[in-house]
Amino acid sequence: MNRPVRTRFAPSPTGGLHLGGVRTALYNFLFTRKHGGTFVLRIEDTDQTRFVPGAEEYIIKCLEWCGITPDESTTAGGNYGPYRQSERKHLYAQYAQQLVAAGHAYYAFDTPEELAQMRAANANQQYDHTIRMQMRNSLVLPDTEVATLLAQGVPHVIRIKMTPGETLTFTDLIRGEISFDTSLVDDKVLLKADGMPTYHLAVVVDDYLMQITHAFRGEEWLPSAPVHLLLWEYLGWKEKMPDWAHLPLILKPDGYGKLSKRDGQRLGFPVFAMNWTDPATGETMTGFCERGFLPEAFVNMLAMLGWNDGTTQEIFSLEELVQAFSLERVHKAGAKFDFEKAKWFNQQYIQQASDDVLVLLVRPYIEEHVGEVTDELLWQVVPLIKERCSLLADFWDQGHFFFKDPETIDVDAIREKWNDSTQQFFTAWLEALDQLEVWSAESVERSFNELVAAQGIKKGAVMLPLRIMLVGGKYGPGVFEIAGVVGKEAVVRRLRRNLFSV
Ligand code: GLU
Repeated sequence: MNRPVRTRFAPSPTGGLHLGGVRTALYNFLFTRKHGGTFVLRIEDTDQTRFVPGAEEYIIKCLEWCGITPDESTTAGGNYGPYRQSERKHLYAQYAQQLVAAGHAYYAFDTPEELAQMRAANANQQYDHTIRMQMRNSLVLPDTEVATLLAQGVPHVIRIKMTPGETLTFTDLIRGEISFDTSLVDDKVLLKADGMPTYHLAVVVDDYLMQITHAFRGEEWLPSAPVHLLLWEYLGWKEKMPDWAHLPLILKPDGYGKLSKRDGQRLGFPVFAMNWTDPATGETMTGFCERGFLPEAFVNMLAMLGWNDGTTQEIFSLEELVQAFSLERVHKAGAKFDFEKAKWFNQQYIQQASDDVLVLLVRPYIEEHVGEVTDELLWQVVPLIKERCSLLADFWDQGHFFFKDPETIDVDAIREKWNDSTQQFFTAWLEALDQLEVWSAESVERSFNELVAAQGIKKGAVMLPLRIMLVGGKYGPGVFEIAGVVGKEAVVRRLRRNLFSV
């Protein structure tokens, strides 16, 4: 009988949320929504050495920004909690002990020095079937000594006992059948000396107890799959094992290697969903959100990093993604990250967004530079420049002159066009502008054209200087529209300032 679909996103709160992590959450979410299931957010914080304060709240905030809403989580609650593994600590030891009792795991008392010695001869030596009988563990020590060591509380871990020479197979929903040779897998620690489970034990126990039916995770977890397969089997839960899918890596733009947290800084684009400040170093890494991405565009772009629906369609709303998504169409090969393409997605969404939404979104990017601005002004500016913007931050670069006089002026470009007649033209036009009763893009343009005609001057000779005096350079939307928005006072001031300095 088919069980109701339950999936999970299981991040470790160790720092910023990499776009690969968000994509894993997204694919889980899309699959779950498509199948009317339940999407669980589980915080995997059993590694105390890697725990970073604030990272859990940050992950929740990032998912919220993306619209990837968990049905069960530390904040939403649910019937399978707690959803933070450190709060489930008491649950895991019994399963590790059950494995020891059944001969599938053993106590290991090796000290850090003994482990270092093991590796001294061969740095690649793993704690595995080739060496375990030379180490200090319950496979080797007499039962009475093991009992004494345990009674004395001597620090120890519990390791899985891998049986060498077997082939383990499972069917990955993306990659098909995958086999592993157990001889190559080491005896992974399941329960640590501090009583905390490792990822391997915790992920199996929790996927079982939370009745997870489908587990999609990054490709980097594939080598751990044989350990997990055996744990499902040894714990007697094999029938309940979720279907797994290992998602392809997100690669550096050149395709060589996994896109790392550092690559973004090196190459000048974000890799985290939102700004992340490392509490230890105080260093902030920019997020897609703060860089000016719309969450819908970010999510759409991520969905396409490793998946398509078989057509050439690229723009999908979240609802459309839910309908169209299928694991069969997730690629096996890694997906190259292309920041220009990511910006293209964002540009598409900026063009589609309504002006009232954009006014809200753009405001902080403008106010960051000039303090408070009125809605009225933003309402005028946004439609004039939105087609030139790929990022929300571009609204400042493309439209700063609407909010303050340009700081730099491309004087050389004006000089190229400048002569006595242009000087006369602008001097006369300043007077004409002063007489203008109604100030609008149309009235300004009319007065300009009338004077061009009256002076018999070429329009092209004065248009460019006008633009540069108003804007600072050879860019921006229609020059009369700019004049209409910034108003008479600003136009007159900018012309005066530049007219007599060229
Ligand atoms: N805690 C693991 C991680 O952060 C989760 C892996 C999994 O989904 O099983 O990648």
